[in-house]
Amino acid sequence: MAHPVDPGPATDPATDPGDPLHPAAAAARAAGLTALDRAVTGCRACPRLVEWREETARTKRRAYLDWDYWARPVPGFGPPDAPLVLVGLAPAAHGANRTGRIFTGDPSGDLLYAALHRLGLANRAESVRHGDGLRLYGVRITDPVRCAPPENRPTTTERDTCRPWIVRELELMRPTVRSVVALGGFAWQALLPALGAAGWQVPRPRPAFGHGARATLPAADGGPPLELYGCYHVSPRNTNTGRLTTPMLRAVLRTAARSAGLDPHDD
Ligand code: SF4
Repeated sequence: MAHPVDPGPATDPATDPGDPLHPAAAAARAAGLTALDRAVTGCRACPRLVEWREETARTKRRAYLDWDYWARPVPGFGPPDAPLVLVGLAPAAHGANRTGRIFTGDPSGDLLYAALHRLGLANRAESVRHGDGLRLYGVRITDPVRCAPPENRPTTTERDTCRPWIVRELELMRPTVRSVVALGGFAWQALLPALGAAGWQVPRPRPAFGHGARATLPAADGGPPLELYGCYHVSPRNTNTGRLTTPMLRAVLRTAARSAGLDPHDD
């Protein structure tokens, strides 16, 4: 199967923050999102996650035995000048870690892209694989942790090690981004320091996560503020229990899109 981004070279582990290949240095060198997306795919800074993403690709799931898993960090997806950014947790082992595109090939993505399509923010309701023709309008989707973690649980160290990638992504999008939606409490907690490092002021005390939570972050340089929204994660655990319904998801996405200056469809 084809993959979405020409992968950068796989590097040595680069677990030392002083190493030029460590995310702290490599992300800062990226002059644009294309360069950033390529650079992140070569990252090997988290030994446990490198091992897991590659082990998953070797063992596979029965339904995907004919797939050549991506098994690398997964970059963001969507236009680089998007005014709205959605932030998840990390790639799914047999979803984005297989297909190489965020929220692609798993039930969480099925729900998310269907909602975006219903709102007129995506041209298709399904996200199957690279090359399926999916396009997003005014929306970019990314994760604070770019490699699939065991049981969807990155460690605090892994989250912090990966932070420079999303910080740089948000810095590069500052001219256009006006709203961010955190899909779940992990994304919310990971985002607050990232947004602070990317040029916005995080309120004190820190705003608490909740579904429908909203916080305004002024720009540190006097530029436009950023609206941050909380939304329960689109995981099967939340949707199967009814904690998150599709109308609830669409309501948050619609509000965030409007505050970003987009014109989403009504239900
Ligand atoms: Fe690199 Fe992030 Fe993957 Fe760690 S989780 S190896 S920092 S891309």
